[in-house]
Amino acid sequence: MPYNDPSPLEVRILTRRFGLPDSASLDTYLAHDGFQGFERALKLKPEEIIEEVKLSHLRGRGGAGFPAGLKWSFVPRSSPKPKYIVANADESEPGTCKDRLLMEYDPHQLLEGMLIAALAVDAHAGYIYIRGEYRYLIEILDRAIEEARARGYLGRNILGSGFDFEVYTHTGAGAYECGEESALLESLEGKRGVPRIRPPFPAVAGAFGCPTVLNNVETFCAVPYILREGGAAFAALGTPKNGGTRLFCLSGHVNRPGVYELPMGFNLLRMIHEVGGGVWKGKKLKAVIPGGSSCPVLKAGECDLPMDYDSLARAGSMLGSGGVVVMDEDTCMVKVALRIMRFYAHESCGWCIPCREGTMWLRKLLQRFHDGGGTRADIGLIGDVAKSMLGRTFCPLGDAAAMPTISFVEKFREEFEAHLDGRPCPCERAGEAVAV
Ligand code: SF4
Repeated sequence: MPYNDPSPLEVRILTRRFGLPDSASLDTYLAHDGFQGFERALKLKPEEIIEEVKLSHLRGRGGAGFPAGLKWSFVPRSSPKPKYIVANADESEPGTCKDRLLMEYDPHQLLEGMLIAALAVDAHAGYIYIRGEYRYLIEILDRAIEEARARGYLGRNILGSGFDFEVYTHTGAGAYECGEESALLESLEGKRGVPRIRPPFPAVAGAFGCPTVLNNVETFCAVPYILREGGAAFAALGTPKNGGTRLFCLSGHVNRPGVYELPMGFNLLRMIHEVGGGVWKGKKLKAVIPGGSSCPVLKAGECDLPMDYDSLARAGSMLGSGGVVVMDEDTCMVKVALRIMRFYAHESCGWCIPCREGTMWLRKLLQRFHDGGGTRADIGLIGDVAKSMLGRTFCPLGDAAAMPTISFVEKFREEFEAHLDGRPCPCERAGEAVAV
């Protein structure tokens, strides 16, 4: 998706170089504040760098929303083992497409963020783990790494500081599961991408059994600004405990879908109507998935809220990875639930039974329901199967499949009932089938 139609409501911090000529080059980066955050970090003690990131209230942009500075502080800097920095670029959550833009249009920002993290924890090697489908980005990133190394921003004795840091790109094979941090590390080490038992967490035993800072691409990309302008300046852009801006991937039934950088806490209805140009074709809003397919759905009446981690949690959903999927009044919610479950059943790695069997049975139940073969008892059964998965799986994929399903059944039960007695989907009967 080209970034060619920014909204005047955006606050462009991470995306400010998008659209500049040759925005991925080091020259463009340096001409627009590039590596100034790193130069300031060089003058600070490691604990002061971490304190600045804590002050910023930067929370992990991959989905979990864990405070980044706190995560970095868990790395035992005095450990004799090597430390690693890993950027999670395995962006696979349906509805989410922001990290690819950050890597395509401004790869040096990611490199600088990783470099600052390396300085904070005394790491000398970093990896960018990129999902298989983003293979075209490897060339862009490798070129940026070469350029940075040639100009003294990577490699040995960076800017004469005596600090060494190398970055390597590594591609996955397109498995959603490898976006889960411990499965990603297994895959990075050349093994099958299944999750690890935790604890220990990656901060203590991550890549190759060594202390590792593992963050999402967008999280690292926010770090140069934080070091350049100060953690307090970043925090002030958002809401309490939810610092900064975030890239929202607005998709679905809106007039102007796109990736928009907005302050944390931006109102969801405003995002749909003022940034996204409103619901398409003059239709009414029916529902929104606020943070990617694993987040519980919100009904139209629940959407007048600030988009930050805490507000979404209070509303019974999640900010997730910033994938905002808008659905109009004609959308069949049974079909949406089925479409999502098809994805999770396909992507379940099969390691643990509640997820492997649960996603498969939910897919079958939802398919039968959608095709008109469901019974009233099946409505409860779908909810029961999903609830039986919650908290009982080895990694979050089980919950990611169960949570939206429960929300669809609880919030749109009448639509499930409308499919009973052999009736096909009412939306399709009305000739308004919507591809989801
Ligand atoms: Fe694999 Fe699913 Fe279990 Fe995660 S929850 S380990 S994806 S089977």
